[in-house]
Formats: sequence, C-alpha cells, structure tokens
Amino acid sequence: MKEKKKIAILGAGESGVGAAVLAQAKGYNVFVSDFGEIKENYKQILDNQRISYEEGTHSMDKLLAVAEVVKSPGIADHLPVILELKKHGISVISEIEFAGRFTQAKTICITGSNGKTTTTKLIYHILKSAGYKVGMAGNVGRSFAMQVAENQYDYYVIELSSFQLDGMFHFKADTAILLNITPDHLDRYNNDFQQYINSKFRIIQNQDENDVFIYCADDEVVMREIAKRDIKAQKMGFSIQDTKNSAWVEENELTFKIDNQVFTISLNHLKLKGMHNQYNSLAAVIATRRHEVRKKIIRESLAKFKGVEHRLEELFKVRGINFINDSKATNVNSVWYALESMHTQVVWIVGGVDKGNDYDILKRGVYEKVKAIIALGTDNEKIHKAFGKITPVHDSNSMQDAVNQAYRLAASGDTVLLSPACASFDLFENFEDRGRKFKLAVASL
Ligand code: ADP
Repeated sequence: MKEKKKIAILGAGESGVGAAVLAQAKGYNVFVSDFGEIKENYKQILDNQRISYEEGTHSMDKLLAVAEVVKSPGIADHLPVILELKKHGISVISEIEFAGRFTQAKTICITGSNGKTTTTKLIYHILKSAGYKVGMAGNVGRSFAMQVAENQYDYYVIELSSFQLDGMFHFKADTAILLNITPDHLDRYNNDFQQYINSKFRIIQNQDENDVFIYCADDEVVMREIAKRDIKAQKMGFSIQDTKNSAWVEENELTFKIDNQVFTISLNHLKLKGMHNQYNSLAAVIATRRHEVRKKIIRESLAKFKGVEHRLEELFKVRGINFINDSKATNVNSVWYALESMHTQVVWIVGGVDKGNDYDILKRGVYEKVKAIIALGTDNEKIHKAFGKITPVHDSNSMQDAVNQAYRLAASGDTVLLSPACASFDLFENFEDRGRKFKLAVASL
C-alpha cells in the first residue's frame, strides 16, 4: 500500500483543527502540535477523529518528518519553530491555502486594514438573502477547512488577514476586495510598512483576466501600489467622490456603473451608518452584482443589515446620553472614522496597549467634538501627551470606573464612545471581553 502523505498542523485553534479534520478526510497522516494549551472542545474533535496531537511543546523530530506544515495565522514567521522548518525546506502554508485545494466553489476574498469583518458579513448576508449556497470563513466564524470538509457550498466569502495571506501561494480569489491599507501590525513586518503592503496585495496573486479586483480608489497607498504592478484581473475601483470608477457616492446615493449599466441606492436606505460603511457597502455591492444578485435583493439586504457587534454598536440612552461600543477599533484609522461619524459632543474612552500609534490625524476630530477623554489603560502617558492640551484627559484603570466617569462628564444629548485605538490585552482578554464589559458597565448605571 502507498504510504500516506504526512502533514503537520501548528496551532490547534479554529483554523488548525479544521485543517486537521480536512487533511484526515483527504487521507493524510496528520499530526497536530500546539505550544500552548489546547481548548477542551478542540481536543474532543481531535480525539473523535483519532488525530494525534501534542500540547505545551513542539516535537521537532516529528515536525521535521513531514513534507508540509499548516500554520495558524497567530504564529509569527520569525519564531524558532518556523525558522527551523523553513531551514529544512519544509513548506509552511496557511489553512486557507490548504483548504482551497479541495473546493471548486467560487471565492470572494476580503482584506484591508479595517472593515474586513463588516464587509465579509455584509456580502454573506446579501448572498444568503439571494438564496445562494454560501459559506463564510477566514477570520470569522468556523474555519474554511472545516466547512470544506463538511459542506458543499457554491460560494465562500472569506475574510483574510495579512497573516493568512502570508501563507498563501497558489490559492486564487475569484473576486478580491482590498478595502484600505493603513499601518497596522508592523511589529510582525519588521516595522516595514512596504512589507505589510506587499502582504495585503497577495490577495490578487494568481488572478487572471476572468477574475475581479475591487479596491478603494480613494486610498493613496492602494493606488500607488496598483500603479507599480501589472494586474491581470478586471479592476473595479470604488470611491466616495470620484465618478470615474465602478462605484461612487453622488448626491446622497451610492451609484454603480457595472457592465455599462448604471443603478443607484439611496444612502437613506442603508442601515449601516458612517462614511467607512459607505466604502464597505460600495465594495459589497460591486462584488455581489458581479455574482449576479438582483438589485432588489441587494437593496433589501442593505436596508436590513445591522452591522456587527463591537463595531460602532449603538447601545441605548441613559439620561439622554447615547452609548456606543466600538471596542474593535484597535487602530487610529478606525477611530478616525468613528469620530467622523459622530454628530454630537463626545466623551471618548480610549487606550490600552499602544501599537506604535501616531495620534496626529485624530487631533482635529478631538478638537471639534471631544469634550473629555477617559484614558483607560495601564500606561496612559501617550494619550496625555497627544491630547492633553486640546481637551481634559482623565485616567482610569477599570471599565466600570471609566464608564462612571464618562457618565458624570457627559450631558444629555452627548455621546459616550468607547473606541480604544489600542489592543486590549493590558486590562482585558480581548476586544470582545472589553466590549462586553463596557456594555455591562453601561447597563449598571
Ligand atoms: P476588521 O475585520 O478589518 O478589523 P471590522 O469590520 O471588524 O474590520 O471593523 C474594525 C473597526 O474599523 C471598527 O471600529 C469599525 O467601525 C471600523 N471600520 C469598519 N470599516 C471601516 C473602513 N472601511 N475604514 C475604516 N474603518 C472601518
């Protein structure tokens, strides 16, 4: 009998366990290795499938015996285990690359520094409403690999982070969407913005004339990079102002010119608010029109789609004060859009683990709209330095205290906005935990 091909999976989280199950189903000899602790529910899946695994260590002898390794996006490329594998010529790929080999479904892939999850979920919502057989994968929900193992979809909408893109080589997106590029995660790219840009542009690798590349024509970084490259796919730009593109905003309407047909959707029709969501909606509509969803369905879907938890999520009013949870705003650019969409005076809760933020672009918005800042983190010095001369800055080191202070400082008609511009790991488990604690604190007022 022919010997089974050996494959190793590094990291037993959602993507790793999905890859392991798919590999097993495809006849590989699978070994899973996680340097940390594996969650009980994932252990159970591995046990049920009789997949061998280890935790708390990486056994190099076993890992070096395979031809290919699927790496979780959370494991950085410069870690010793990855360097060692590469030194031995072992190919290290991402779960998306691996699972892509086993499906014929059409793929719509979304990347960008901000707006990925919102746009992915919006496109999924539209395609589902149109009655398509569609799965949603990548950074959201269940792993691509697990769905490929268990389902037969015609379409996948896939959110791709730069870390997933880094492990992709032969995979091709039928439709690729690039929402924007602003500096983020530079710690994983040797503090070199160009490396991060290159990573994002992997979304169009392997595309040919039959494929579509949808991009933000208002983004200078994206446009500069497009000018440098020989792009084979059909290019479809979207813009808020410039009518020379496939989609734009004019006189309060989203306007589309696709296959020489023009159609419009009134902005008043959109449930999602804010300029950033105009961009996300333009991208989503181009993508779904390209896949022949009827305009009526698209309009109805946009009127219904409420947005995603922790992304400018409106809570409720207390004493006339509006509370908004934007815990997922973990970089300066997303906070810029949050402030941009505020139409009242704001008490802004900001702070956490700073990722090398440059706060300059926020100063104008703060000057115009922010009556007070609550700095919520273990080290708030940078926030004092950046904004202390513009508006009063108060320190806090717990969510309840931050919310109580904000509540005291706000007046009826104002907004208390949690939009941290930072990672959450100093005081919280993750951005979801931070958002949930905000909601609990507001509920207890
Ligand atoms: P991602 O998955 O890329 O992190 P999300 O949809 O989760 O994006 O949104 C993250 C943050 O960015 C939220 O604060 C959201 O309000 C904001 N945001 C959403 N879309 C955009 C956009 N197109 N440009 C800038 N910020 C955005």
